[in-house]
Amino acid sequence: MIDELHTAAIQVEFENTACPNCASAGNKSVYTFTDKFGSYNVVRCKYCQLSYLNPRPTKSTIGIYYEAAQYTPFLSSGSGRSLFGRVYTVIRKYSVRWKRKKIERYRAGHSILDIGCGTGEFLSEMQSNGWTACGLEPSQEASEFARKTYHLDIKTGFIDHKDLEFSISRFDVITMWHVLEHVHMPLQALDRVCTLLADDGLLIIALPNISSFDACAYKRDWVALDVPRHLLHFTPDTLKSVLHKAGMEIAKQHQMPLDTVFNCLISEKKIMEKAPWYTIPFCQLRMTLLILISWIVGLNNKRGSSVMYYIRKTKS
Ligand SMILES: [Zn+2]
Repeated sequence: MIDELHTAAIQVEFENTACPNCASAGNKSVYTFTDKFGSYNVVRCKYCQLSYLNPRPTKSTIGIYYEAAQYTPFLSSGSGRSLFGRVYTVIRKYSVRWKRKKIERYRAGHSILDIGCGTGEFLSEMQSNGWTACGLEPSQEASEFARKTYHLDIKTGFIDHKDLEFSISRFDVITMWHVLEHVHMPLQALDRVCTLLADDGLLIIALPNISSFDACAYKRDWVALDVPRHLLHFTPDTLKSVLHKAGMEIAKQHQMPLDTVFNCLISEKKIMEKAPWYTIPFCQLRMTLLILISWIVGLNNKRGSSVMYYIRKTKS
């Protein structure tokens, strides 16, 4: 279906989709959202349980949503001036170091590809610590920022572009930090990732977890639903199913504690914008409690707010 935007001269195309994992058309609506651009349903597949957006913006027009004023992809580079922006910037600084240490503790390696590298802070951390770092980023603006600021080898484009070539043919480590939930065709993307990964390589995927405690607590206000930019909403079980089709399996997983803080912080911010009668002390108290409970519940590997997955190939 095609919806006319209320905004003059801008048009977004919507498409209906079967389950991106099992191709079944059977699904159940979980949440419905409406904004000036259209209506979106987060649905759950009746067969494989994957949650996904349907209808969704087409790949050729979804970029409009990334250009929306409220989307802040460059927050990490220091443009966030609000209290929330400053807190997030501090968290990001520690987050990249935490990620590097987690990877180095699990696997020694020389080469790394970060898919959806954004403005390049994580890759810069890896490059500074002796890794040969390559990046892939759809945004021209973010790619240029990463090249100029950190002198990184960044390609601009999408993972499923067939003519995309890197200076290294197979990487020891490939990372996808909060990327797979944005992809229209996850099976094709993971097939491509598999060909770029060394046979004994490590794929790291980080994803929000729609079965987490805070997702269940905040429901439709949970920031990681991020409609309509997030097209897929994984649980550890649905990711396992998708990876199996791509010839890969999860070797290890754990929660990402800083992401829990971020998800609760921004979810509270969303609620306060919608319902200003909530007082700041009330929201701060609720947020603190939810973060603490989410961390405890997240010690169960399947319930973390965001989960970091360590993935290996099951076929060459
Ligand atoms: Zn399905």
